Amino acid sequence: MSLGQLSLFNRAEAYASKVAIIDEHQYYTYEQLLLRSRHIARCVLKGNEDLQEIRIAFMIAPGYDYTATQWGIWQAGGIAVPLCPSHPLPALEHVLQDSQAEILIVSEAYKAKVQPLLQQCSVEFYTLEELQDMDQDPTSPLPSIPSHRKAMIIYTSGTTQLPKGVVSTHDNLEAQLLSLSEAWQWQPNDHILNVLPLHHVHGIVNILLCALWNGATCEFAGEFSPTKVWDKFSEGRINVFMAVPTVYYQLLQRYHHADAEKQQLWSDCLQGFRLMVSGSAALPVNILEQWREISGHTLLERYGMTEIGMALSNPYEGERRPGHVGQALPKVEVRLVNENGNLCQEKEPGEIQVKSPCIFQEYWQKPEATQEAFTDDGWFKTGDIALVEQGSYKILGRNSVDIIKSGGYKISALEIEEVLRQHPQVKECAVVGIADEKWGECVAAALIWDTGEAFALAQFKEWAETHLPSYKIPSKVKLVEALPRNAMGKVTKNELKKEF
Ligand code: ATP
Ligand code: MG
Repeated sequence: MSLGQLSLFNRAEAYASKVAIIDEHQYYTYEQLLLRSRHIARCVLKGNEDLQEIRIAFMIAPGYDYTATQWGIWQAGGIAVPLCPSHPLPALEHVLQDSQAEILIVSEAYKAKVQPLLQQCSVEFYTLEELQDMDQDPTSPLPSIPSHRKAMIIYTSGTTQLPKGVVSTHDNLEAQLLSLSEAWQWQPNDHILNVLPLHHVHGIVNILLCALWNGATCEFAGEFSPTKVWDKFSEGRINVFMAVPTVYYQLLQRYHHADAEKQQLWSDCLQGFRLMVSGSAALPVNILEQWREISGHTLLERYGMTEIGMALSNPYEGERRPGHVGQALPKVEVRLVNENGNLCQEKEPGEIQVKSPCIFQEYWQKPEATQEAFTDDGWFKTGDIALVEQGSYKILGRNSVDIIKSGGYKISALEIEEVLRQHPQVKECAVVGIADEKWGECVAAALIWDTGEAFALAQFKEWAETHLPSYKIPSKVKLVEALPRNAMGKVTKNELKKEF
């Protein structure tokens, strides 16, 4: 194979003998990955020349098998539709039906789990092991896939509504990989640990594909546990890490419960890191500060979404401002537009709009939703509100759930959360707007209270009065054991609203 092959695979051929993936202590080279993926490609092709954008859903734990399957689907000309193993059956059924997947591949471990779906959805079903055992001629030709071909349907996190299928082409993915490789200076000797699910761009593109695009190594450690991650860090191979804020939070909790000797060991092992990134949700400033205290690293916070890939990032070199997401990434144009449709002034809140080759092609089978998502002149409307302060973007939240409209004010829930977290007894919190006859919406806060001191509402309100202007003080406060979160660790605020 040669010409006509997608760049990702041409590059992988050049890295042949390097270690692409470490999965549960097993090492796999780029060559092994290519061979395995081509075998899978031939299996799903079943003698056909090209799958021509047939959707293939797959449920495989993050790791070598997952990657080989994704690459196999691409080399056969199919569209990869990754499924999240921890999703409940109705959510999986939604993805299978909505994407009109024709083939479903799962690892043996998930066979029982997906069994009930096979009755509802008419898919051709294989376990990975069945594919492995199929006889294939390793010399039979594979199709040459044009880079404008649809590559993936990623379903959005479903944080605010039923997940939408976001279709990205190989060109879109490549643009994302080029942009991030440049901005974060990916190197062939990088070694990244992945702890995120692989059904969202954060894990798939920023971690897995960026590593493989650059000839680096991506390591997997099975089910997430903070202790396991610290142990992995201590082994001394890893130099890049990317995660969501809740992962950093859990790593910090674990750190603070360790003895002094362990803490020293763990702090020392972070010294060799080149880059640590946070994204997918707002990074609380106290997490950034605590991480800096134990590691000397200022986490690089960035902003992106399934539809656009990454758009804004703090600089790799230069000042990373807490609570800010920096500037537009290479290849990406970003602007802020106010309600009158005009460009925002400094410090004026407005919607983030984006134009770039990284942007998705369409919502799967939703031409109207796709059209509505763009302005007439082709800017993608993110629905996120931000402002620019001294040249750096600050995210105020989603217009739909984080911007609380109360008595003529527009209040950022994220800003209130940032303040409430300064209370010594508040471990975690989430703020939402609740329908209110008088004010339109009122501010409501759910708190995870530290056990140290009993909660007294009057005292808490007193504290809030000295830290927030009156219109931002939560009028409803509720203690919770845990915040409702989705598989990406994002607080599902619509669910939280129902609890109030
Ligand atoms: P759905 O669209 O189904 O409601 P979702 O928007 O959470 O789910 P994603 O595309 O995974 O699905 O997430 C993108 C969103 O995550 C952005 O629109 C933004 O609201 C939020 N986000 C990402 N990075 C950051 C960040 N650094 N700070 C604040 N919010 C962020
Ligand atoms: Mg979204």
